[in-house]
Amino acid sequence: MNQKELNIPSSIESFAFADGTGSTLKLFLKRDDLIHPVVSGNKWRKLKLNLLNAKQQKFTKVLTYGGAYSNHLVATAYAAHKAGLKSIGIVRGLDADLENHSLKFVRECGMEVKRISREEYRFKNEPDFLQELRDEFGPHYRIPEGGANFLGVEGCMEIITESETAFKAIDFICTSIGTGTTLAGMLAANSMNKPILGFTPFKKGDFLRGEVSDLMYRTFLDEEFVDEQMENLHLVTEYHFGGFGKVKPELKEFVFWLKESTGVQFDLVYNGKMMFGLYQMIKSGKFKDGDSIIILHCGGVQGNVGFD
Ligand SMILES: *Cc1c(COP(=O)(O)O)cnc(C)c1O
Repeated sequence: MNQKELNIPSSIESFAFADGTGSTLKLFLKRDDLIHPVVSGNKWRKLKLNLLNAKQQKFTKVLTYGGAYSNHLVATAYAAHKAGLKSIGIVRGLDADLENHSLKFVRECGMEVKRISREEYRFKNEPDFLQELRDEFGPHYRIPEGGANFLGVEGCMEIITESETAFKAIDFICTSIGTGTTLAGMLAANSMNKPILGFTPFKKGDFLRGEVSDLMYRTFLDEEFVDEQMENLHLVTEYHFGGFGKVKPELKEFVFWLKESTGVQFDLVYNGKMMFGLYQMIKSGKFKDGDSIIILHCGGVQGNVGFD
């Protein structure tokens, strides 16, 4: 994709809750959601080096995976098309609606969509299944679900490195977590040793500590560095609203209120839950006066349509 189309480095803006919560703190939003209208936020960061690598290796097709409203599929379909690559999307669930907003869009970008059962999806990375995919689609460059590989992590390091001065000056960093790739990249670039609060959208989010360290180990062989950075990671697991993709009226109202009062739209799956959690943490006095926090806005707002 043409670099000129992308708002990189993404901007860092001050942010305030409209009811005065956190008014003794300094809050900032890093607007990765504004990087591109379609390939928003961390999805571009994770795809960039993968698409480059696919092209360098002379692949003509990329294949990846996702759910029926996946931000990652939407981003991949568009970015691959722009890069002159064909794309294949393996979609979870035989009942996934091909006419929904997200899947309609990916197909319009030329992505070939194959739906598989939830049962089969669990074996999506098994050698037998990968062979079946090669038989069906021919040679292709495979990007794991959510862009969760070495190059994805490396791409996410730029979230920190492109705004190093700003990150150096603050006390805390907040981000939401899915596969943990974004967070692994941020930790990998966290040479300033800032505490990073990672908000998990899963019912039992503690497993993500292992996912993040695995992703980092795969990137950096220096175990000491990884271990040191894992101490900077503070998982916040309680604001999951019943589990991944689950929403409650309270969450919807909160995200609606943020949009109405600040003009910033957050998604319901990840960042909405993070903002809700952060708001509660501020209210319960988890931060001290004068603390400053950069909150990463990862984008992903297109998926909200799935909740209407
Ligand atoms: C994909 C996504 C995430 C998760 O990112 P990971 O790198 O998989 O942890 C978080 N927030 C939003 C809005 C996303 O779209």
